[in-house]
Amino acid sequence: MKNIILLLLPILFACNATKTATTTSGSISATAPYKWTNSFPRTIRISQQFNDDEAAAILLMSNAWSDSVDNEKNFMSYGSDVTEKTNNITNLDSLYDGVMGVYKCSNWPNSLPGSALAVTQIFGRRYNAGEDNEFVNIEHADIIINDDFYDFDTTDTGSGFDFRTVVLHEMGHFLGLQHKSSNSNRNLSVMFPSIDPTEAKRYPKAHDISDIADKYNISIGGAGPMSAGHKPNYSIKEGDPGKPVRILLELQANGDCVHKEDGVEVSRHGIH
Ligand SMILES: [Zn+2]
Repeated sequence: MKNIILLLLPILFACNATKTATTTSGSISATAPYKWTNSFPRTIRISQQFNDDEAAAILLMSNAWSDSVDNEKNFMSYGSDVTEKTNNITNLDSLYDGVMGVYKCSNWPNSLPGSALAVTQIFGRRYNAGEDNEFVNIEHADIIINDDFYDFDTTDTGSGFDFRTVVLHEMGHFLGLQHKSSNSNRNLSVMFPSIDPTEAKRYPKAHDISDIADKYNISIGGAGPMSAGHKPNYSIKEGDPGKPVRILLELQANGDCVHKEDGVEVSRHGIH
């Protein structure tokens, strides 16, 4: 229950040097949490580009987050399908549009590394900069799956990266969780920043559950919320207008990374 402070370490892979988080407004505090202060559920839409199995898997994974805490906290609700910007996202800034979505992108933007299986992009505002209770208030978030460079599998028997594992991880970011980069966390969290094609993590794990419970002050396993003295303090300093931030969190493929241009493979790198 004390895992409030998440270390955000840049992970460098041979394939593509990339940071786990970037922002348009300078470096972010390594320990500043991200959080919704709007009430749940947040409404999110599933792109029509997903097939029925994929759409069902997305709903299952939100249920997995809801079921991980007491009383099945409903974090996300689903609006009607997204009918635009489904597979041709070229301007990531344009996603801050009032419609939060899970997108299946078959034309991966040049601005994103090809080694990313998926990204979650968060728009928000950073408050209490430099203070102990600095945090990013999430205002908008979208999940974008890289259907251009990777194959995903919604079954237990097919080939490709496990679709549910990728979606569960991205939803963790949607809810404000950051990466658990330490190798020792790999089996205790779904927020490790890379997966390989044989990995399946379809339920939040111990660290994820305690992190989400702490962040939103909700009970787990019959244990009550944190005592007042240990609750994170998300109150905003008087007169602080907040500083707009855009955050990109990337889930990396831990295996062969294939780069394509216009659908054609142009290079392949091993990631170790
Ligand atoms: Zn991630």
